[in-house]
Amino acid sequence: MGGPRLLSPVAAAAVAAAAAIAAVAAEPGDALHCPITIVGGGMGGAYTAWRLAVDAKVVRPADICLFEANARLGGRIFSVGNVPGYEGFVTDMGAYRFHRTNHPLIRSLVEDRLKMETGCYTDATTTLPMDTPDCPSAKTLSATTRTRSYLGNLTTQTGYKLDEWTPDVPYFLTDEEKWGAGQARKTRRTVASVLFGNDSLIPEMASRWDALHDNRLTVEAAMALADETIAALRAGTYKGVPYAEVSGVQIARDAGISPEEMALDTALGYTSWFQGNVLGALIVAAREAATARLPLPPTGPAAAMVVPVTSNGAGRKRAGMVTIVDKMVGEARAAGVRVFMGHRAVGVRRVSACDASTYETGTAPLLVSFANGVGVATGRLFLNMDQPGLIALGAGSEPMASAGTDFKRRVDGAGVLGVSKTYCFWPRAWWLADLGLTRGSGRFETPAVANTRYHDGPVQCADPADLATCRGGLLVDYSGSDPTGAASGLYAASYADAPSSPRSDAEPYTLLLANSTVPRHRLALAAIVDGLRTSHTPVLDGLGLTPDVIPDPDVCLVASWYDIGVHMHRPVPRLSPAVVSEELFVKPVVDLPIHLVNEAWGGISGWSESSLLSAERALGVHLKVPAPAWLDRRVYDALITNFNKGA
Ligand SMILES: Cc1cc2nc3c(=O)[nH]c(=O)nc-3n(C[C@H](O)[C@H](O)[C@H](O)COP(=O)(O)OP(=O)(O)OC[C@H]3O[C@@H](n4cnc5c(N)ncnc54)[C@H](O)[C@@H]3O)c2cc1C
Repeated sequence: MGGPRLLSPVAAAAVAAAAAIAAVAAEPGDALHCPITIVGGGMGGAYTAWRLAVDAKVVRPADICLFEANARLGGRIFSVGNVPGYEGFVTDMGAYRFHRTNHPLIRSLVEDRLKMETGCYTDATTTLPMDTPDCPSAKTLSATTRTRSYLGNLTTQTGYKLDEWTPDVPYFLTDEEKWGAGQARKTRRTVASVLFGNDSLIPEMASRWDALHDNRLTVEAAMALADETIAALRAGTYKGVPYAEVSGVQIARDAGISPEEMALDTALGYTSWFQGNVLGALIVAAREAATARLPLPPTGPAAAMVVPVTSNGAGRKRAGMVTIVDKMVGEARAAGVRVFMGHRAVGVRRVSACDASTYETGTAPLLVSFANGVGVATGRLFLNMDQPGLIALGAGSEPMASAGTDFKRRVDGAGVLGVSKTYCFWPRAWWLADLGLTRGSGRFETPAVANTRYHDGPVQCADPADLATCRGGLLVDYSGSDPTGAASGLYAASYADAPSSPRSDAEPYTLLLANSTVPRHRLALAAIVDGLRTSHTPVLDGLGLTPDVIPDPDVCLVASWYDIGVHMHRPVPRLSPAVVSEELFVKPVVDLPIHLVNEAWGGISGWSESSLLSAERALGVHLKVPAPAWLDRRVYDALITNFNKGA
């Protein structure tokens, strides 16, 4: 890794404490016995340890060992607290917020059980909407296709879409494909428009859409309807092929949506997501329609995205998403769970008779070996690993060695979509002070700047009433889902210091300092500034400002989650179509106590909620751990007991 390692103060404290334990507990060559072993200290691994030892208290904490490969906890949650010159502005390079009604597990965990404070997902000053009782949704500021920007009205335009067709669209569209006044179509077609809504081409969804979204439904009725919809979707087929084996792109192409229309959607939205099987996307839509009705506390942010915050009296500040992981691991450690940092598991195998002389195996059926020579015999193993991590263990390692072909096929079908985030910091928050952009997204077609979020970045103002006194960071680019990198700001991530993968210890993170002498860093910085100035030309022109109102930043942070981003499950043919993937993932081998707990295996692509779902399924269904007292029972029954199958 090229740049200095930066850790949030909170994470650093947790790591230091954990390392102290690790130093006495496991030296290279040590043979340990852990009745329960958790490999990975991400959201899923941390939750598993905490639930067993602290929340449900069903396992003696000292019987649990948590091993993390890196020197920090959090995995794809990576909160940086000491950006040079901007210490104390916590910046999340990976996951950073959750949705209060779409993600009932994490909401209940954070707010009801851990009692952590959350605030609106927007800037952290008192004048910006951070501390309003309601979270205003982000509005699209402008959409750009190729070099043309289309400015929207911040108060009326929503979503990532071009509302009207214009001759500036860079793709050749037939009259049938155009939309807008006087044109052939009234609305633009996207893959999403084919799958969702009461015009969906999926009859099971179209016929229930309005009922699912009828605001008069009670929670019970909505959950029952979601269950019934999901059961119908599981049984449904597209031209005779189960929905799990068909992609959204396939259906959209059959419907006559041209590659050019989809290319436009790739530039503006998320076509790549629809390379995944449609069943997963449809189930999530049905379930979210129901969970949207769950009652929320009468005070606090509304049913929208929130971030963990700390209160300092004058104005709330982002606390960093890793504080959730830190809190759970901190409580688990305090209770006696053994935490080992810098331990990368490299193999899992069945215990043999010869192991008895080396390991205190007892009846432990599994042996986990680590890259530093440590080995652990264990009675139960939770692998908090994503798809590349699981595959890196190898075909000779459990669970792959003993798992059936159907499981392996579904693991292979778990594609990884690259994601990158770039935050830059300025002494003057020009987007607020000079351009008046407090929230909304800009979608651009400039090399390193494809998607700017004005409502996203740690900002502090000396005088909250005067935006000219604000300094801090802006999410200048948040890109993903485009495997080519051509239509997105993954370009900036191309300048990452090192690829991050299960084979390396490199962090997916590069620090670009204004005075850097590293040629790659200078190129990246230049591309970012050029991209910002070019993409804002229409805004600057409208205000009569020149490009230098956007100065060079002091520092930028680029996170390149290129090789381990988020997961998208492709439509691979299933050898046992009736078996739900999540059931296979949660216990891949019938006679081995191994459980996969990770976003990759929980059914909701790209959200921490998925990590918690997979972990809670392993705990509740396979270990018979009682349902969390803090979780709505209806949610538990549908998502955990019934594995989202439809009850
Ligand atoms: C850019 C980006 C933005 C995102 N934004 C959001 C968001 O706003 N909200 C949200 O909810 N989700 C978001 N997500 C998704 C979210 O980050 C993940 O769903 C979640 O963090 C995954 O947690 P996990 O525990 O399942 O896996 P991971 O975070 O992948 O944790 C796995 C852990 O296991 C460790 N590990 C792996 N292999 C080994 C080994 N062999 N030995 C020992 N340890 C090992 C890893 O180091 C890691 O710590 C985002 C993801 C990205 C990439």
